[in-house]
Amino acid sequence: MLTQQQSTIITSKETLGQYLALAEDEWLFDADLTNTLPLKIPMYFLNLIDPNDPDDPIRRQVVPRWQEQRILDEEQLDPLCEVNYSVTERLIHRYQSRVAFLTTDVCPLYCRHCFRRRFTGTFQGPASKEQIEKAAEYVAVHPAVKEILFTGGDVFTLSTKALEAMIQTFRDKRPDLVIRLCSRMPASYPMRIDADLIAMLKQFNTAPFYLMTQFNHRRELTEQAIQAVRMFVDAGIPAMNQTVLLKGVNDDVCVLEELCNTLVFNRIKPYYLFQGDLVSGTAHFRVPLKEGLAIEAELRKRLSGLAMPLYAIDLPQGGGKVPLMQGYLSEQSGCGLWSFRTVEGEIRTYPDVREQSASGRPQ
Ligand SMILES: *Cc1c(COP(=O)(O)O)cnc(C)c1O
Ligand code: SF4
Repeated sequence: MLTQQQSTIITSKETLGQYLALAEDEWLFDADLTNTLPLKIPMYFLNLIDPNDPDDPIRRQVVPRWQEQRILDEEQLDPLCEVNYSVTERLIHRYQSRVAFLTTDVCPLYCRHCFRRRFTGTFQGPASKEQIEKAAEYVAVHPAVKEILFTGGDVFTLSTKALEAMIQTFRDKRPDLVIRLCSRMPASYPMRIDADLIAMLKQFNTAPFYLMTQFNHRRELTEQAIQAVRMFVDAGIPAMNQTVLLKGVNDDVCVLEELCNTLVFNRIKPYYLFQGDLVSGTAHFRVPLKEGLAIEAELRKRLSGLAMPLYAIDLPQGGGKVPLMQGYLSEQSGCGLWSFRTVEGEIRTYPDVREQSASGRPQ
């Protein structure tokens, strides 16, 4: 049931202070500084926080701290160089076969770890009709593009009608284009996902949609969140999850193990586990790579292939995504013998295919 309280959205530190006893580093966050990601937490998500735990993993993701306003030398506002890869005002073409479209900068809540803070929450609003048409024209003449990511911001902050018009514009030009709906809405405000939205999506059946969620902790998978995702999956839209590895939130094997197993149980495939990008003001969230790699190795022991996400890093200076894992292929010795380390740490060798010598041929 949607109560009055649930529809409340917290946007100021003072109001937040009425619900949570703010710690000093939370009070010291200056919401008036320009270039700061706005404070925005829907009551639904605030209710997931344990008010008695100052280190609550849900709280960490949405309650800003002063550390966010400290910018390190190695950090940048746009380390992925998305601006350089923009081919129209809101369309990023970084990889051959897929493009990312910034549908809006608005989100139902602002994650303090957001890597797209150069754009997110900058009060620009949904893409204009012209911006949508320009992007659609681009994909129309680039048949190598097979998928488009509707990202932002959060695509489901658009009204169902506005989203329908946007999809129609792209489908008119490219009926074959796979559309990824990248949204944190099932986690941040699952009540937005309604029968109307799903029915609208189902009209477009010339190419599939994929739902790309962001769940970072098991506790975000509430009954309502699970129900929201179930509506997509029941409608034939597969769900994939992208988790950000966050210090104090999920930098723990047991926490990630439970998250991934719960995702699979609810028909959500764990897709990526992201190393934190070098984005301004996010240093307090970054987990050292060495720890991340150790977590990945332990997860690989415990989780099924289905439940195991790919740990990846989006390299600075627009280097793009590359997978991260400890080397299992340790060395190549002579005579085409490859040496492997097993997941449990033992050694096995694999004799590679060799050129058949004349005498080795069957007679
Ligand atoms: C991550 C990303 C994609 C999608 O990459 P996949 O590895 O296919 O998930 C596409 N465009 C941009 C700009 C991205 O950052
Ligand atoms: S939902 Fe995504 S775009 Fe929005 S604030 Fe969170 S990480 Fe950033």
